[in-house]
Amino acid sequence: MDFKDIVGQEVLIQSLQNAIRENMVANAYIFNGPTGSGKKTVAEIFARAINCRDIKYRPCNLCSSCKKTISKSNPDIIYIKPSGNSIKIDQVRHIIGDTSIKPYESSFRVTIIENGDKLTPESQDAFLKTLEEPEKNNIFILLTENYNSLLPTIISRCQVFNFLRINGEKMRLFLSNHGFVNADEIEFAIANSDGIIGRAIEILKSKDFRQHPKEYGELLEIIQEGSREEIFRLSESLVQNKEDGAKLLRFLLSFFRDILILKDVEDIEYIINQDINPNIIKGYSENFGEENLFYIIDLIKQIIRSMDFNVNMKNSVDSLLLRILEVCNDKGSRSTV
Ligand SMILES: [Zn+2]
Repeated sequence: MDFKDIVGQEVLIQSLQNAIRENMVANAYIFNGPTGSGKKTVAEIFARAINCRDIKYRPCNLCSSCKKTISKSNPDIIYIKPSGNSIKIDQVRHIIGDTSIKPYESSFRVTIIENGDKLTPESQDAFLKTLEEPEKNNIFILLTENYNSLLPTIISRCQVFNFLRINGEKMRLFLSNHGFVNADEIEFAIANSDGIIGRAIEILKSKDFRQHPKEYGELLEIIQEGSREEIFRLSESLVQNKEDGAKLLRFLLSFFRDILILKDVEDIEYIINQDINPNIIKGYSENFGEENLFYIIDLIKQIIRSMDFNVNMKNSVDSLLLRILEVCNDKGSRSTV
């Protein structure tokens, strides 16, 4: 991967390249954006370019520094990950301790902090001291999903780059240029990617990406039956972490889009979620008016958007499911969420 392989982040890439060309690389960066938007890939390319020995085109991908960075064996490119649920103060002290030592063989030591929003308050305090008195040959890149969870004093000492969601057209072009050939599958992946390229690739690479856990069908059935207790029981096992919740939300989004399409064309062949029992699909089509479908789809999209801001996934999913149940059984007023 090189800068030219990154899709949809042109402005950001341009300013990183300018910084390298003009020797204006900052001491600390925040790369902010949803998982799968390319933050880590760009951080690695940037680190490679900073230490590349070529004069003209950086990264050249041919010099010893570039090769070592690509093979993850460059001792001056350091990756820090959360240990357990957070980045602990000992990990930060370790990084700080190293900053006073010269890089082994490169001009700069680049430390890439993954899940930077998981720095504990104590870790952030310790890290802040390093940012306040920067050692010239150390560069930090914090990768975050929501940088607002960091101390304002840290944010103010970093250059912040926001990774954008990208449009369907750019994604289509990128995916078809990267070995994905089935147009239907590409459209499905784009529709379920929420503008995040990594997610679209993940969907396309997963072999049976149209197969859902059988509990999804069960959940749709329980909603039709109107049982709150059963919904909570099932969501307990279906949403054990953020990724589970995100997967379920993406499924519900495509399912309700399916129902909307079905209202229009009345032919089950056109729907994406072919693995769901046709009787369930039919039931939803009868129970939901078009206006309610748009309403539910909007609700799901809102929750998917808010996922970037550490919301409680289980609670969000539960309140959504209850809302769907109420609309399905015609008990809901649409004034509250
Ligand atoms: Zn190079």
